[in-house]
Amino acid sequence: MIFDTHAHYDSDAFEEDREVLLASMQENNVGTIVNVCAAIADLDKTIALTQKHPFVYGAVGIHPDDAELMTQETLYRVRTLSRLPKVVAIGEIGLDYYWHKEPENHEIQKRMFRAQMDIAREEKLPFMIHSRDAAEDTLAIVKEYMAGGMYGGILHCFPYGTEIAREYLKMGLYLGIGGVVTFKNGRKLKEVVREAPLTQLVLETDCPYLSPEPNRGKRNSSLNLPYVVQAIAELKGVTPEEVIAVTEENARTLLMRQNIS
Ligand SMILES: [Zn+2]
Repeated sequence: MIFDTHAHYDSDAFEEDREVLLASMQENNVGTIVNVCAAIADLDKTIALTQKHPFVYGAVGIHPDDAELMTQETLYRVRTLSRLPKVVAIGEIGLDYYWHKEPENHEIQKRMFRAQMDIAREEKLPFMIHSRDAAEDTLAIVKEYMAGGMYGGILHCFPYGTEIAREYLKMGLYLGIGGVVTFKNGRKLKEVVREAPLTQLVLETDCPYLSPEPNRGKRNSSLNLPYVVQAIAELKGVTPEEVIAVTEENARTLLMRQNIS
């Protein structure tokens, strides 16, 4: 069954129909969902979703957008929540220089990214990285941490080209592939998917954002993942069933070591 490694069902975009939508997942071949926390205010919402739905797991971490708001107390909360049994990763964490251009902010982002990579290492959890317009700094920090020993990770919504992808693949990390692979202007990502081994790709929605074609621009949900599966299958020359099976196995290997289900 489909494994959505990156969703934001705590978003207000699902306020009206969250329960109905989540209740329809299993019958639509979506077997597992990881709800990923982004903002400080959303930590508890992710945990609540994991407690309510047996097939929903959580990732806890703070997005670089909120780096300036983070304190020692925030880091302590991330660490404490990461010990809950259904929390399977630290994320989404990383660097975003697209929305934040000020050098002082970049220093804070890097500090908070490192602090959360420390938590991932110490709590023995994989990481989920958000990186935008920060290719060099992200790669440098990930390389440094991987050299010191980590428990794997995912480059969420992989935004860079094949050369940078190779660096992450060499380290044994996974690339999160979502709606962008179906876009007409998604050529760079299509090349990455064509080249990367299927055994290092995982599916993701990033819902409510990044709906695949033909639903681009509308609210996204895990029910749209078959379009992403189809696009990957065409690029790799395999069947959609194989894409679903291999990416599910990949996600389980990385995220479910302690959660046999
Ligand atoms: Zn996200």
